[in-house]
Amino acid sequence: MNDLLESHFGIIPLKVEKLNGYDSINYLVKTNDNKYLFKTYNTLELLPFLKAETEALKFLDNNKIFNSPMPIEFLDGEYVKKITYKGQEILIRLLSYIEGVFIGEIKSSTEITNSLGILLAKLNLKLQSWDNSVIKSKESVWNLNSFTMCKESIYLIEKYSDRNLVHYFFQQYEFEVIPHEQKLRKSIIHNDANEWNLLVENNLVTGIIDFGDISYSDLINELAIAIVYNSYKESDYLFWAEKLVASYNSIIPLEEIEIKILYYKVALRLCVSACNSAKAKNTNPENKYAIHSESKILKMLREWIKISPFRAENFFRKACGYKKLIPTEKASLISRRKEIFSTSISLSYKTPILFKKAAFQYMYDEQGNTFLDAYNNIPHVGHCHPKTIKVGQDQMSKLNTNTRYLYDSLYDYSEKLLAKFPKSLNKIFLVNSGSEASDLAIRIAKWYTKKNKLMVVEQGYHGHTQIGIEISDYKFNNSKGIGQQEHILKIPLPDYKNKIKSVDQIIHGFDNQLNNNRNNVALFISETILGCAGQVPLPKNFLKNVYSKIRDQGGVCIADEVQTGFGRSGNHFWAFEDQDVVPDMVIIGKPMANGHPMGAVITSKKISDSFGEGVEFFSSFGGNPVSCEIANTVLEIIEEEDLQSEAKEIGEYYMKKLKSLKKDSYFIGEVRGKGLFLGVEIITKSGNPNPILAQKIKNGLRDKFILVGTDGEFNNVIKTKPPLCFNKQNVDQVIFEFSKILKKIN
Ligand code: PMP
Repeated sequence: MNDLLESHFGIIPLKVEKLNGYDSINYLVKTNDNKYLFKTYNTLELLPFLKAETEALKFLDNNKIFNSPMPIEFLDGEYVKKITYKGQEILIRLLSYIEGVFIGEIKSSTEITNSLGILLAKLNLKLQSWDNSVIKSKESVWNLNSFTMCKESIYLIEKYSDRNLVHYFFQQYEFEVIPHEQKLRKSIIHNDANEWNLLVENNLVTGIIDFGDISYSDLINELAIAIVYNSYKESDYLFWAEKLVASYNSIIPLEEIEIKILYYKVALRLCVSACNSAKAKNTNPENKYAIHSESKILKMLREWIKISPFRAENFFRKACGYKKLIPTEKASLISRRKEIFSTSISLSYKTPILFKKAAFQYMYDEQGNTFLDAYNNIPHVGHCHPKTIKVGQDQMSKLNTNTRYLYDSLYDYSEKLLAKFPKSLNKIFLVNSGSEASDLAIRIAKWYTKKNKLMVVEQGYHGHTQIGIEISDYKFNNSKGIGQQEHILKIPLPDYKNKIKSVDQIIHGFDNQLNNNRNNVALFISETILGCAGQVPLPKNFLKNVYSKIRDQGGVCIADEVQTGFGRSGNHFWAFEDQDVVPDMVIIGKPMANGHPMGAVITSKKISDSFGEGVEFFSSFGGNPVSCEIANTVLEIIEEEDLQSEAKEIGEYYMKKLKSLKKDSYFIGEVRGKGLFLGVEIITKSGNPNPILAQKIKNGLRDKFILVGTDGEFNNVIKTKPPLCFNKQNVDQVIFEFSKILKKIN
C-alpha cells in the first residue's frame, strides 16, 4: 500500500489503517502533517462514475459553507486511475480526510438535526446549479427513482411480515407517488445522508462525506433519506422528521406536492434499504458493513406503518408553515347517512369512525389516527394485502365474466379450495356472500332431503336473506324479530348462559324434538364456535352426537364456517375439524377473498347431483374470474405465510393474556374461543351479563384507537377476531389498554 501512495501521490505514510467500506476498500493514511482517505475498488466499471464524483467534489470544494472531501491529484494530474496491483486490476484514488465525529456516534439533538437540515439544503442548492451527464445516466439500486430495481430482492427478506411491508409500500408508492412524479423537482443529490456520512463539530453538522451514491433524482429524496437515518435510532420518528423538514424548508421551501408524498418517500427508502441489505446478506454474508443498518431499518419500517400517512403529512405541513389539511366533516356524512339510509343499518361507536385507508392490522382515520384492528376478520390476511390488490387489479384489466364460459381461474381456485376439505366434500357452488351461501345451502338441503323442518342452535346467525333470518335465532328471537317459525326447531346453546343446562340435558332435549318431528328434519346448521352468540365454542363431541342423529332420520348437517374458516381457529383449517366430524355441506364467505365479496357452498357429489336434477343454478357474479383470482391468492398467502400456525400461536398468547386480566377484575367472566377468534364475557360483580360495561370497554378501547366488537345474547361479550397478521405486540397493546380501563372501574 505504502509503495502505491508514494509512487502515485508522492506521499510517505507514517501509518495506514483499514476502514469499513460498502463497495470499496478504504484506508486511513496518516503522514507527518496530514490525513487522507485512500480508496481502492475491484469493480472497474465504476471508473466513469468515480470521475464524475471527482468533478462533483471539486465543484463543492469551492464552497466553504460545509466540509466535503477534496480529491487529491496523482503526480501526473489525474484523480482516479486504473492500475495493476499484485496482479489484479483495481481503481485507486485519494481524498482529503475530514475530521469530526459521526452523527452515528452521538446522541440525537434538535441542534444537530437543525444543522443537518440546513447543511443538506445548502448542499442541494449548490448541486442544483451543477450538471453532469454521467451521473444523470447512472442507474443505481440506491436511487429511489429506480426502486423497481430492488423489487426482486423482496423475496430475500427473512420474515414474511417484513416482506409484506416492503411489498405494500412499493405498491402504495405506485398509487400515491408515481402519478405525481412529473411534478417533483429533480436534481443531482448526495443520495446517502446516513449517520456515518455526516460529521459533527461543536454540536453542529459541518461535514458530509461519501459521494459514492450521488444520483440524479427527485430533490425531495435527499430529505427523505436523511429523515430515515436521523430518526431510526430513536423511537419518536415523526418528531425528528418534523425538525429536519423544518430546517431544510428554511433554506429550500418545500412544495405542497413534495410534502404530500414525503411519507411514502421515507417508506420507500426504508424498503429499498431493507431489500439491498437482504441482497447483500444473500450474496456475501460476511460483509457485515453492508447490513449494519438492517435491524434499525426494519424496526422503523414496522413502526412507520403504524403512522398514518395523513398524520405524517400534517406534521410535515406544519413544519413548513402550511395549514393543516381539513379532514372530511364527519357530522355531514352522518346527516347524509340519515337522509338516505334506513335506521336498520347501524353505525359502530358513540363517536363513529371515518376511515380513509388501511394496511394489514392498522386502519387510518380522517384525523390521522391509526387504529389497531382487533376486530375485523374479513381482511383475513391483512387489510390491502399487496398481493390481493395486485391480482384483483390485473384480472380486472383482463377479463371479468361468469361461469357460463370457461376460464382457468374458476377451476384453479375451486380445486385448490376443495383440496382443503375432506375428500367426500368435492363439489362447490360459488356465490357472493355468506348469506347467499346459507340461503343456497338450505335450498339444496331441502331439495335433497324432501323434508322441511330446519334445526338450528340458539343465538346462531347465518345470514340476512329471508331464509337466513328464519334460521337465525340471533335475529328472529330478537325483541324486534319475526319470532320462531313453525318449521324451525331450535336447541339451546350448550355450556353457556349460567350453565343452567348440562350438555346431556341439551342432547336430551334435542332427542325429544327430533323424535317429535321424526323423518321431517331436513337439516341441522351450526357454527362450531358461535360468533354472534359471543364466540361460544360447542362442547367436545357435540357435533358428532348431533350429526349422527340428524342423518339417522334422513337429514343433512351443515357447518357454517363463514367466520371461523380459513385457519382462523388455529388447530385446523376449518373449525368443524376440531369436532372430528365431516359435514354434508359447508358454507363459507367473509375472509374468502379478503374483503372482496365472495361465498360458497361445498357439498358431496351425491347432494350436488341431486340438486342438479332441479332447475338451473346461476349466480351472475358467483365465481367470476376477479373473485377467483383474489380468493386463490388468499389461499396462497395463508399457506406461504403459515397464517394458520400464526393464528394458533398468537391466539394462544392472546387467550393467556386475556385470562390474566380476569385475575385482577371481577368483571371478566368466561374467556373463550380458539385461535384468533376470541370472546371475553363482561359480567357484574354478582356474575350477571354486564352489557353497559361491555359497551364502555368497547368505546374505551376505541378512544385508545383499538377496534373490538360486542355481541352475544346480552351484548356483553367483547369479541376480538383480528386479521391473521396480528402479532404479539398488538396483543400486548390491547391487553395494556383493556387492563387500564378495567383498573379504572374495579
Ligand atoms: N354466517 C355467519 C356465521 C355469519 O357470521 C355471517 C355474517 N356475519 C353470515 C353467515 C352471513 O354472511 P354475509 O354477511 O357475508 O352475508
